[in-house]
Amino acid sequence: EVFAPRRNSKGFSMTDTVALEPLRQRLQELASSRFDAAPIIGGQRVAGQTQPRFSPIDRRQQIGSMISSDASAVERALALSDAAFDGWDSTPATRRAELLERAANLLEARQDELLYLLSREAGKTLPDALGELREAVDYCRFYAMEARRLFPQPIALPGVTGESNELRLVGRGPFVCIAPWNFPLAIFLGQIAAALAAGNPVLAKPSRRTPLIGMRAIEILLEAGIPGDVLHYLPGESGGLSDKLLGDARVAGVAFTGSTGAAWKINRTLAARNSSIASLIAETGGLNAMIADSSAHVEQLIIDVITSAFNSAGQRCSALRILLVQDDVADAVMERLGLAMRELRLGDPLQLASDIGPTIDQQSQNDLNSYCDKLASSARLIGSTPLPAGLENGCFVAPRAFEVRLDQLPTEETFGPVLHVARFPAGGIEQAVKAVNRLGFGLTMGVHTRLDSTVDIVRRHARVGNLYVNRNQIGAVVGSQPFGGEGLSGTGFKAGGPHYLLKFAAERVVTINT
Ligand code: GLU
Repeated sequence: EVFAPRRNSKGFSMTDTVALEPLRQRLQELASSRFDAAPIIGGQRVAGQTQPRFSPIDRRQQIGSMISSDASAVERALALSDAAFDGWDSTPATRRAELLERAANLLEARQDELLYLLSREAGKTLPDALGELREAVDYCRFYAMEARRLFPQPIALPGVTGESNELRLVGRGPFVCIAPWNFPLAIFLGQIAAALAAGNPVLAKPSRRTPLIGMRAIEILLEAGIPGDVLHYLPGESGGLSDKLLGDARVAGVAFTGSTGAAWKINRTLAARNSSIASLIAETGGLNAMIADSSAHVEQLIIDVITSAFNSAGQRCSALRILLVQDDVADAVMERLGLAMRELRLGDPLQLASDIGPTIDQQSQNDLNSYCDKLASSARLIGSTPLPAGLENGCFVAPRAFEVRLDQLPTEETFGPVLHVARFPAGGIEQAVKAVNRLGFGLTMGVHTRLDSTVDIVRRHARVGNLYVNRNQIGAVVGSQPFGGEGLSGTGFKAGGPHYLLKFAAERVVTINT
């Protein structure tokens, strides 16, 4: 099957200095603006008590304020979504697609504000923020295209003479979309766009760490014409409200991206309901490895290790956590890696000279630093990036790489710039892949080799959703590298892929005796 041609957004070239300078100036001007977040229910902002929001770049810098959702906001959102379902589900899929395409255009038009917030609220470097904005735009257009492809035409099925059978896809009902802070625009909007495209009303729950970006995204969807009773915004602490939301029989499905632990909890809450069996689409963590044999091109390997492990301060679920290097070249690789890490620059993400910004908050910073302190007692430090002076008020964490033994691999995801490096013996590719499989996650894997036989072995044995050969293993592109994992890493189907919308839909068969 050939899918309709659809172009990904062009984005913005970081080498176009003529266009870049005015953008940087506009981003600087936004520094005096304050942003707010509040629940939006039935198209109306809800009033309440505001709490200040600070930047991870400098904890003293207030960037805005947030009003949390309370139980009555949740109840109203549930009631309105439930009542809106039939109307939205019977709105032609082509119309739903048009509204998402309009939202994609608005996202591009509002680029400056979104980039500013991605940097100030989520600590993203400018290239990362630009990449995320593109991904958000691409998700809206991709799921619009998919809605047109999958929904309007029923599939005619065979039947006995005098009987017609037709299968069509329909929405399931109100969906709760729970997004992570590491892609507060792209994943947040991707989940929502998919649920809406398939005919479901949405109750959108942003991460409590990134409510300001989520607010702008919801405002854009509403401005594009998504009806106010179909889309509701519920910022705030998750705690008790999530249980109220997920335990409610009116919720037909949940799309979640976040930690494996949180997915288990959601699954248990849904399982405890004595009501409709809700579907759960979860994209969770990873303990992602890269395997390099002795034929690997070392310069390319080092560049791809650095990008995969430390880009976005390691705060991607696709990020490299475990580098496995064949013994014969391990010393050379580790030495060069250590040297390269010294050249990376931590700093204010809007400065073009900065390679790496802060981690998301102080808790994350403290947890990562104590993890490294503990690891340092049993593992050798191969390399680290210096923490420059002047960043003391931000949540910056120095990237570090440690040598560990193959039988000492981490068993839990560490969500930050920490890399574990282990050696494996010549001829041990299959065992190395199996050691990674045994960890139970299955998101991304990288291979660096010039041998077809190595690629074959890894391809045959790796139980991962996304395998990357001779390149970095982050930054999956919508429509080209549908993204998502197996095992502890998620349920599938893959975001940005040809089957994703099916997870948000129900099938209905109508048989007519003619
Ligand atoms: N899709 C992103 C990537 O390929 C990662 C998404 C995530 O961190 O949840 O890097």
